[in-house]
Amino acid sequence: MATITSTIENGDPKLGVEDVDVAGKRVFLRVDFNVPLDDQGHITDDARIRAALPTINYLLDEGARVVIASHIGQPKGKPDLRNSLAPVAKRLARLLEKECPLAPTPTGAETRSMAEEMKPGEVLLLENLRFHPGEEKNDDKFARELASLADIYIGDAFGNAHRNHASMSAITKFMNPAVAGFLMIKEVSYLSGAVNNPMRPVVAIVGGAKASAKIGIVERILPKMDKIIIGGGMAGTFHRALGYEMGNSLVEEHMVDTARSVMNKAQELEVKFYLPSDYVIADKFEASAETKVVPAQEVPEEWYALDIGPASTTLFGEVLQDAKTIIWNGPMGVFEVDAFSRGTYAMVNHVANSYALTIVGGGDTDVAVHAAGESRRISYISTGGGAFLELLEGKELPGLACLTDKS
Ligand code: AMP
Repeated sequence: MATITSTIENGDPKLGVEDVDVAGKRVFLRVDFNVPLDDQGHITDDARIRAALPTINYLLDEGARVVIASHIGQPKGKPDLRNSLAPVAKRLARLLEKECPLAPTPTGAETRSMAEEMKPGEVLLLENLRFHPGEEKNDDKFARELASLADIYIGDAFGNAHRNHASMSAITKFMNPAVAGFLMIKEVSYLSGAVNNPMRPVVAIVGGAKASAKIGIVERILPKMDKIIIGGGMAGTFHRALGYEMGNSLVEEHMVDTARSVMNKAQELEVKFYLPSDYVIADKFEASAETKVVPAQEVPEEWYALDIGPASTTLFGEVLQDAKTIIWNGPMGVFEVDAFSRGTYAMVNHVANSYALTIVGGGDTDVAVHAAGESRRISYISTGGGAFLELLEGKELPGLACLTDKS
């Protein structure tokens, strides 16, 4: 089993689930079952539940009593039926082919007695942790109550690992050991392998709305990459740094100097840095807008650059041709609107067709990959959005830092 540390750059190795004896023990398994629900409360994508199955099945096979805890949605510290984990309990029961009772509250007398009555090889799902105000406040009292339900803590909620919440962080003060589950280990080791020890050439594709949200990542990984492709709204800030007029496009003036220094650094380090050569522009930020394709230097006043253009798509495809590792976060344009989605979907195809090890992280990018039906042709799709980005940025994630060191 791979060993992980609290950042992808350094830190002490953490204990993993296979390092402890769980047979007959009551374990507290923190997962990320924050799955999307439709208006009727049906799960529209159960990838996050499936991603936790290796750890759950392992624990059941070992004869543990598995108390599973997660949050879903934003119930703001009080019970709210629309954010109940009941649909998740049903789906989990089907996937595990065993009963999956739902404790009515994350803590309290009834939950405690349900946990106490568990037999080896049984699971119990706690109701939404965020029904309690203590969860998001990282409250010690709530954490202690959660901890009292089990003997061993297992952190497998990678998607929530950047949150300093009671079930991720404070709870580990009261539970020893606190070990990483298989998903946590897989997520962190994939990403740290791709950044620190990649098969080369390694290419990072960074897109999305704002330069300010992603430039820290670009700066951090720049020295480790062979090529960087920038797309999406954030490319506008880099183009402004080159002196281009960008009309009404999303340009963050306060980030222009940073963008310029990132490009200078890339040149110094001989990292190839690619920006879109053309854009799909629109006269309004609306689906019904008039659109045209122009070179990146020629975005007229009052127009919006909302997608990369066909020449950029071809260029980026060529850049990826010889890649052996690709890390991608962030769409190339406003892909939610048909007229501005081509650049992102073409990128999905480039990445899916590549022979490289391909890692896609976070929210919107993974939505685009799924919508294109290409998820099976991507080597690894992270379950984390914010956590994936913070890890890439070299930050220490609380949900990882709090786990017990191997030493
Ligand atoms: P992020 O969460 O930073 O990855 O940003 C994703 C969002 O960026 C998506 O909702 C896109 O619609 C948006 N986006 C991508 N390209 C542009 C653009 N050129 N202008 C404005 N928004 C964009």
